[in-house]
Amino acid sequence: MDHYDVLIIGAGPVGSHVACRLAGLGYRVAVLEEHEGIGDHVCCTGIISRECAQFAGINEVSDGCVLKVAHSARLFAPSGDFLRVSKDEVQAYILDRAAFDRCLAEKAERQGAEYFLASYVRDIKVSGDEVRVWVDQRGEVLTFRGRVAIIANGFASKLPEGLGLGQIKDFIIGAQTEVETNGISEVEVYFSQRIAPGFFAWLVPVSQHRARVGLFSREKPGAYLREFLAQLAAQGKISTSSGSGTSLTTCAEGTISYRGIPLKPLPRTYGDRVLVVGDAAGQVKPTTGGGIYYGLLCADMASKAVHEAFGANDFSRRKLAEYERLWKRKLGRELQIGYFARRLYNGLSDKRIEKIFSIIRDNNIHEALLDSPHFSFDRHGGLILDGLKRLAPWRYLLGKYSIPRDVL
Ligand SMILES: Cc1cc2nc3c(=O)[nH]c(=O)nc-3n(C[C@H](O)[C@H](O)[C@H](O)COP(=O)(O)OP(=O)(O)OC[C@H]3O[C@@H](n4cnc5c(N)ncnc54)[C@H](O)[C@@H]3O)c2cc1C
Repeated sequence: MDHYDVLIIGAGPVGSHVACRLAGLGYRVAVLEEHEGIGDHVCCTGIISRECAQFAGINEVSDGCVLKVAHSARLFAPSGDFLRVSKDEVQAYILDRAAFDRCLAEKAERQGAEYFLASYVRDIKVSGDEVRVWVDQRGEVLTFRGRVAIIANGFASKLPEGLGLGQIKDFIIGAQTEVETNGISEVEVYFSQRIAPGFFAWLVPVSQHRARVGLFSREKPGAYLREFLAQLAAQGKISTSSGSGTSLTTCAEGTISYRGIPLKPLPRTYGDRVLVVGDAAGQVKPTTGGGIYYGLLCADMASKAVHEAFGANDFSRRKLAEYERLWKRKLGRELQIGYFARRLYNGLSDKRIEKIFSIIRDNNIHEALLDSPHFSFDRHGGLILDGLKRLAPWRYLLGKYSIPRDVL
């Protein structure tokens, strides 16, 4: 049984980022990852903002994890009409997610963090002056001891609930596959309750002839994705056969991957000797399902709170509560407004979505929003409120929803 200062559960981007920060501060850090390889089995489109890439310390050229940059996108209404939004400067990076995860893990290892792969954490207990973690490692059960643990093991982690921190109550399922395209160069986003009820679908090119196609849905994401793939194939946007000659449907069915996305945060993200960060804590934009940047920001705040706890030799929940205060001050309102917008969109029929698109187009609202000081790839609260104000003359379109006082 080995003793560490910090045990980190999960070697996704969030776990590795916090490991890098804490190992860089001189703590003895162990990172426990269930898979044999970092980045194995990721299910992610890998779109991050330039600000996020800078924050993660990613070099576009030398780190080898950026597949493509995006300046523009086409937003499709249910009818197939689209609005094109574009800026001169780069708006987003499209990542090789597995390479990104490996890159962050290598940075943490260079700072001294120790990685244990094929190490599935099955339980965690806090007792006295330590936290213990039970790990299945290739058939053997090992125990790791630490002074504090950070749970960063992604969506549907059971560990917080076992520690009395509650459960994430609202989530959606993402389904995604990779296909050959007939030369699509811009990101495409599809808004239609028929294609992806309550959410949206996407076609994101990763190279000249390949793209990630996916969608979010509360139910039957695989069935909706197969229908969407068939629609794209009928439009001639994607190839109808894979490289090996099998039909698209067969090929896509075999390669669709699924992962949940939390829409609301965990009731409590700290406890005695424990913090929860990233998807495990529900730190995800409810508007887009993007969780990498918010998770990394919160990882930074977690490392700050842990460093202060070591300074005070106090790992009580009262001391660690500072972490939740920090992240809620920075992101709480964004999550609240995003969740409100998500519910509002949920209640719209395709007819109303179509009408909203035409009002936006006829009044150039999209151009105005792009130039608005509120425009940000990562913070949507200001933009949502600005957009709702601009749509105010057509408020009836939003149906029964009015803007709640706590959001304004
Ligand atoms: C279809 C889809 C598309 C997405 N697209 C985007 C996007 O374009 N941009 C964006 O910002 N976000 C996107 N996201 C969300 C993004 O993938 C997550 O927010 C992000 O991966 C969260 O990082 P994390 O480190 O918290 O968790 P994860 O990336 O899930 O990492 C958790 C790690 O913990 C490991 N683990 C799990 N349980 C255990 C255990 N018991 N013991 C040990 N190890 C364990 C896992 O193997 C994994 O390596 C998308 C999600 C989906 C589903």
